[in-house]
Amino acid sequence: MRLHDKVAIITGAARGIGQSAAEVFCREGATVVIWDLLAEGETTAQRLRNQGFRCDFMSVSTTDVSGIETAAKEVYDRYGRIDILINNAGITRDKTLLKMSFDEWQQVIDVNLTGVFNCTKVVAPYMVEQKYGRIICTSSINGVHGAFGQTNYAAAKAGIIGMVRSWSKELGPKGITANAVAPGFIQTAMTDAMPDEVRNQAVATIPVRRIGKPDDIANAYLFLASDEASFVNGHVLAVNGGQAL
Ligand code: NAD
Repeated sequence: MRLHDKVAIITGAARGIGQSAAEVFCREGATVVIWDLLAEGETTAQRLRNQGFRCDFMSVSTTDVSGIETAAKEVYDRYGRIDILINNAGITRDKTLLKMSFDEWQQVIDVNLTGVFNCTKVVAPYMVEQKYGRIICTSSINGVHGAFGQTNYAAAKAGIIGMVRSWSKELGPKGITANAVAPGFIQTAMTDAMPDEVRNQAVATIPVRRIGKPDDIANAYLFLASDEASFVNGHVLAVNGGQAL
């Protein structure tokens, strides 16, 4: 049980990668709190509680600072600690630069970049108080290398790397590590929305010749959240089957 007695908030865990992370973290002994917009978050939490795990759902948007403040205080009051924050929530609004509207730019920046800042800004003081914390943020292969049709997404995911490296320096002396995971091509609702042909072409470029599974990323989150990773700080862990090196 690598997360015995740890309390973890995972954003965007109603489905997809975050949902897998909630399952993996529960199995490893953590108390998990899901912050998501989707009511399906309660279904996920209920299913995990039915299996005997500790998992709560809170309806929280990572763009709503006062909602985050209220939810973080509730978690702290209920469990007395917040050990792990996984900033996993994210959206896409893909268009080429020439077609992207200002609104599409702003929506993705608001959720994928400012949302990560908001949650970390609110939760970090609890971690400072307890002199322990693990902050893990979900970047992307496309934030490292750029991607056709993803000016907004790539900018936000690259921005996450800058924030994580800054936090690793600011918060490291206070017992808190900050790291990012940069997933490659992972099978979730986000990639199911792509046309089959585009998806098949993408898989053909992955050296291990398969699409990633949500658990591949959840296990990377687990490593970074565990005590084994206590000397890993400011790192960007690529989990992409070797697609981009
Ligand atoms: P998904 O769409 O299946 O899940 C994203 C979750 O985030 C959803 O439950 C959604 O409701 C939630 N969410 C969105 N906006 C929110 C907000 N403002 N507040 C709270 N919750 C919000 O996507 P996924 O594929 O599981 O992606 C998870 C993370 O991994 C994202 O940050 C994504 O950018 C990143 N990522 C995914 C892939 C991939 O191939 N699937 C690749 C690289 C990075």
